[in-house]
Amino acid sequence: MKYVSEFQDRNAVQYLAASIRERVAGKDLTIMEVCGTHTMAIARSGLRELLPDQLTLISGPGCPVCVTDVSYIDRAIALSRMHGTVIATFGDLMRVPGSDSTLEKERANGADIRIVTSAMDALFMAGQKAGQRVIFLGIGFETTIPTVGVVIQSAKSRHIRNFYVLSSHKIMPPAMKALCEGDVRIDGFLCPGHVSTITGPAIYDDIVKQYGKGCVVTGFEPTDILSGILMLSKQILAKTPAVENQYKRAVLPDGNPRAKEVMDEVFESCDTPWRGLGTIPASGLKIRDAYASWDASVQIAVPVKESREPHGCRCGDVLTGRIQPEACPLFGNPCTPDYPAGACMVSSEGTCAAHYKYGFHRK
Ligand code: SF4
Repeated sequence: MKYVSEFQDRNAVQYLAASIRERVAGKDLTIMEVCGTHTMAIARSGLRELLPDQLTLISGPGCPVCVTDVSYIDRAIALSRMHGTVIATFGDLMRVPGSDSTLEKERANGADIRIVTSAMDALFMAGQKAGQRVIFLGIGFETTIPTVGVVIQSAKSRHIRNFYVLSSHKIMPPAMKALCEGDVRIDGFLCPGHVSTITGPAIYDDIVKQYGKGCVVTGFEPTDILSGILMLSKQILAKTPAVENQYKRAVLPDGNPRAKEVMDEVFESCDTPWRGLGTIPASGLKIRDAYASWDASVQIAVPVKESREPHGCRCGDVLTGRIQPEACPLFGNPCTPDYPAGACMVSSEGTCAAHYKYGFHRK
């Protein structure tokens, strides 16, 4: 018999969905789920079909692969072509289109590119590959940044000098502020549970104070997501925006202090480009000078041509909630998960991949 957790209980799901329908009857609400894991969970669980038509869910820039700028992919490709270089990367990045190529194509052409599941795997690889340099492609949000920080600290303490990180790490609040200042209607945010386990919910305080948008930190099971939507709907309709924590079983008020300490010790704030949002001040984290010996962007010079987005791809509009994926003329033909034209169709957390996989365009 298939185990069903209390967070997937059918009756609880139906009850919460009915509560949302009752609450928002006759009102128009637009809620952005910021996190790519939410996007996929909503699609996988069919939650959209349970929600009223007046409640629009739009997806935000919360998939780390999707928001990684094409210039970063181009740099990674250029590095992969250098003699004596091993690129270590999460699998999702392999097929993200750069200006002229992908890491997958470069590997087929002979580049040494390895898929790893953690930065620590890349560090072990460096330990075994004396005489070669191993460059880990460091992307992701607050969720993954502390683990990369620990690995860089470990490289330093173990004197491993052939390991580097090409950092394109990003933090979430500046992107949410940029969205609040944009032209897309967003009444409130379902905030990412994973990020918040590290940071705690207070990182969203400014979104409420400066922009009057409600923020509910939400878990990833169907009842979590519906509870988060219900909490946010109540806030929006009562015009009482606040930061609330639906995911208390994982997100503590202070987050994870040790992880934050590591992040602060190894990284510092920088401006960074986001696909679809352009360069956002103080939205990235670069490696501090004390660890510059392990920073690929400092240690390894490589010429990179001017980057350009894949022709016709509208990932930028998808990532900012301007359009749903089906509005992209390439959606489904030719862009599919097997032959992705843009990053949002590649990633397992990408909005276009979620819409394609779960067949919204066929309904
Ligand atoms: S359908 Fe493909 S080409 Fe269009 S926005 Fe999505 S990923 Fe980009």
